[in-house]
Amino acid sequence: MVKKIGVLTSGGDAPGMNAAIRAVTRVALSNGIEVMGIHDGYKGLLEGNMELLDRTRVSDILARGGTTLGSARLPEFREEDVQDTCVNILRQNEIEALVVIGGDGSYRGAQALTKKGINCIGLPGTIDNDIPGTDFTIGFDTALNTCVENVDKLRDTSSSHHRCSIVEVMGNHCGDLALYTAINCGAEMVISPETGYDEIEVLERLHYLGEVVRKNHAIIIVSEKLCDVEALAKKVSQNTGFSGRATVLGHIQRGGSPSPTDRMLASRMGEKAVDLLMEGIGGHCVGIIDNEITSVPIDEALERPRKSRKKLYRLFERLV
Ligand code: ATP
Repeated sequence: MVKKIGVLTSGGDAPGMNAAIRAVTRVALSNGIEVMGIHDGYKGLLEGNMELLDRTRVSDILARGGTTLGSARLPEFREEDVQDTCVNILRQNEIEALVVIGGDGSYRGAQALTKKGINCIGLPGTIDNDIPGTDFTIGFDTALNTCVENVDKLRDTSSSHHRCSIVEVMGNHCGDLALYTAINCGAEMVISPETGYDEIEVLERLHYLGEVVRKNHAIIIVSEKLCDVEALAKKVSQNTGFSGRATVLGHIQRGGSPSPTDRMLASRMGEKAVDLLMEGIGGHCVGIIDNEITSVPIDEALERPRKSRKKLYRLFERLV
């Protein structure tokens, strides 16, 4: 049976990563397995930057945002010789297996290490909900809460001023954060990779909402990387009866104390990762599918299409 495992966080940070680190550590320790916390992702691994985690080291981190282990990117980790050096460092420290908390790039690193004899399990940690093999990622719910709280505030001021608030949220080519925010905030429009962006269509729809439906305000939620929200706001002011105002929520979406849903998800996934490693399984990633904690081989997960949100887009349209 595995005697010592490592845990690291990699890629962009997300609320709930600490809850996952804590769960991995506590579940492993309760099974007599030692846990090495590796700082700053694969970069820290290459530098041998690590510390032994005990129960108290992971006390008081459950409610904290970010990652107490730190995260980093190491593009060189794609190179075999760098991976080999890391395998040697793991072996020197008697670390037999690893839990990697991060996005799909981090999963590929985990897969490479598994092929070299170090069993790795990937946990999906990102606010973007853009990782295949799971319905939800650790951090998504907290970011959604932040978006909803802020858009609700914008609604208060836009309805007093016949305004159209155009709010850009994150998502990294995945429209879930935009779609879920739009449904939860009663937005008038959502622009996401799934809907596509057509400026004329947006302006016509706003014109209709203002002149025919006689709405005194409108909220448009836009997924990042699709359009220039400042430029769109100007066009709205010039071409419709609304005064357009753009807000980019930015990195506040990444921060904050994880929501109970994210703490729960991270705890359940952390437990599953240790259970898999104890069974001698590597190269898998953990997911939640229809509220069941599951695991699939990483290569299979990365090839799978993401779950369709067609029904939710239909719901959104019916609620406007
Ligand atoms: P996020 O989506 O939050 O940015 P991510 O895990 O997808 O998270 P990346 O920057 O893509 O973020 O990857 C994190 C790290 O994983 C990289 O810096 C690199 O060390 C490692 N990595 C990425 N792609 C590969 C790959 N193809 N092979 C090996 N390692 C990789």
